[in-house]
Amino acid sequence: MNIPFVNLKAQYHSLKQEMDAAIANVLEETSFIGGKHVKAFEQNFASLLGVEHVVSCANGTDSLYIIMKAMGIGAADEVITVANSWISSSETIGQTGATPVFVDIEAATLTMDTSLLEKSITSKTKAVIAVHLHGQMAAIEEIKRICDAHGLYLIEDCAQSHLSAANGQYAGTFGHAASFSFYPGKNLGAYGDAGCIATNDANLAQQCRMFANHGALKKHEHQIEGINSRLDGLQAAILNVKIPHLKAWTKARQLNASHYREVLEPISQIQCTKHREGTTHSYHLFIILAQERDALKEYLAQKGIETAIHYPTPLPLLPAYAHRNFKETDFPEASLASKQMLSLPMFAELSLAEIQYIAQTIKEFYQKQH
Ligand SMILES: *Cc1c(COP(=O)(O)O)cnc(C)c1O
Repeated sequence: MNIPFVNLKAQYHSLKQEMDAAIANVLEETSFIGGKHVKAFEQNFASLLGVEHVVSCANGTDSLYIIMKAMGIGAADEVITVANSWISSSETIGQTGATPVFVDIEAATLTMDTSLLEKSITSKTKAVIAVHLHGQMAAIEEIKRICDAHGLYLIEDCAQSHLSAANGQYAGTFGHAASFSFYPGKNLGAYGDAGCIATNDANLAQQCRMFANHGALKKHEHQIEGINSRLDGLQAAILNVKIPHLKAWTKARQLNASHYREVLEPISQIQCTKHREGTTHSYHLFIILAQERDALKEYLAQKGIETAIHYPTPLPLLPAYAHRNFKETDFPEASLASKQMLSLPMFAELSLAEIQYIAQTIKEFYQKQH
């Protein structure tokens, strides 16, 4: 068997007719930048989430940067983020001139350890970026409580958590603003780069829209220096075809995850992450914590099973932050997890037979070791 980590081709083939027609329509209309597809996308995504404003942009990194610029975050400020994430969750803080402050993760869910959050707040802190990593909700209600108590902005990084929820409320609707990525491999993926900002704050939405559009809301009326971060018409049309299917794809991922949990349960050398109680996990990734992780990864590759690591190095320990002189002992849980985490194949079209083969192969690996 050959099992890819993600299978974008299977999804395209399931939508081919509708997708090809949507793309042809954009070409015929030459609505490449702006236009009706982008407008429709913003409305479709806003109604999916139940938020008032969606501002589209070029990718899910720009969206974080745009949010912070719109909030007026800059030099001399601190923004709190989490030690295990993709670098967008910290580099965008640095891009504003502010300093990223890293908080370690809790071992069970691999999201921010909120017991450490309050200690990281100083008089310079302006915002907290909560990352719902792998599709698992961060302890968002607790993070929100702490942000409210200290008068901090709450930004949600929802790049991996489309349709994740806590007590029935979607990720991206708890904070002042949320950032989404539609990178092709995300649960809702374009055929190139794409992203957006979601918020219920009309003024913040307008500031974001202005900053992303060269500081102008009307052509040639530049209020400030901004950037050029646009969603193009092709990507918007592609996303519009996919949005009606997202709930079904998410259900399929959740079913795959429950199959994984069932067949992996008996293998004592690995551990699945805990699904936070009261939340809906969208399973962007299915993570196990594995003994002899690197050898297992290699063995699975030999048997045709593609896996990945999210992420091999905690953010503060990357060369990009060497000047901060962080040590592994500053982030013990993120450091430990980075040596044990393994992401197994996960996509809606994954079959039960494939999941069983993956579990069987993992079992085989540990039997061979002893
Ligand atoms: C993918 C991702 C981003 C960035 O999204 P891009 O669209 O690739 O720029 C940000 N944060 C997290 C947690 C991500 O996984």
